[in-house]
Amino acid sequence: MNYTGPVYRPPFEADSLLLQVTVGCSHNQCAFCTMYRAVPFSVCPMEQVEADIEEAARRWPNAKRVFLENGDPFVLSAERLVRIAEAIHAKLPRVETIAMYASIPNIRSKTDAELRHLRALGVNELNIGVESGLDSALKLMNKGHTARESIDELLRLKAAGMDFGLNIIFGAAGSDHWRENAEATAALLNTAQPYLIFTGTVHADPGCPLYEDMRSGAFVENTFGEYLDEEELLLELLDLENTYYFGLHPSNVLPMRGMLPRDKEEMLKAVQDMRKRMKDNLDKRPVRVGEGAIINR
Ligand code: SF4
Repeated sequence: MNYTGPVYRPPFEADSLLLQVTVGCSHNQCAFCTMYRAVPFSVCPMEQVEADIEEAARRWPNAKRVFLENGDPFVLSAERLVRIAEAIHAKLPRVETIAMYASIPNIRSKTDAELRHLRALGVNELNIGVESGLDSALKLMNKGHTARESIDELLRLKAAGMDFGLNIIFGAAGSDHWRENAEATAALLNTAQPYLIFTGTVHADPGCPLYEDMRSGAFVENTFGEYLDEEELLLELLDLENTYYFGLHPSNVLPMRGMLPRDKEEMLKAVQDMRKRMKDNLDKRPVRVGEGAIINR
């Protein structure tokens, strides 16, 4: 299999066949992201993709799920994605789902008919970094979309029968605005009803604008107490029908997962218990290492 540049996947795609169709990210400007900073965006040649599918068919003929790489493969035209999906089904007949990272502008560039056609070909369970439902936070993070645009495009996906997981960032609005961030993000999630929510807290490595803003004090991150308050408020406000809440990213103050609404009370209790355990540290801010992992809880 050909892999060019760094290749990332969500933790819950660990068992998926990773098929690279793009290199880098077409946006590559989120304030907190260093994943593809040094990698110019490009589209993999169709011949390479077809050769990789041939190889995958020899090595993993029973694959059921494919995750297309890299940062936002849904940027590809619907026509190119149809070609890729048809090539996958021709060689890997057991594949049921073709998932990938996608951005809100990626969805906007496709018609409703194109979304339905892609869904019919197994494209589903897109992983989308909406990050927040608060416009000021989206601007700070330089996401390139507004909350209204998120809702509009996610509802178009829903109407096309396509499901999605949404990534959100606690603390994306900064320390003074954790309450607004929780309220606006809960409202977005309640409207969109994703099948999965993937949470993390705001963190930045050297080489991105947010890192400089955090160092200079232009952006002040939540305290531990504010992170717990923000997650607690979000959980209280969530009104979801059937969503897996995946909060095991190392940047989180409290590792958490569960099904909502089923496990809501248990999850709220976990936040309250953590607050008690951390009572002497609630006013401190995280010290982090790689991937935002916290080392001073
Ligand atoms: S967070 Fe996602 S969309 Fe933003 S620059 Fe990084 S890979 Fe691209």
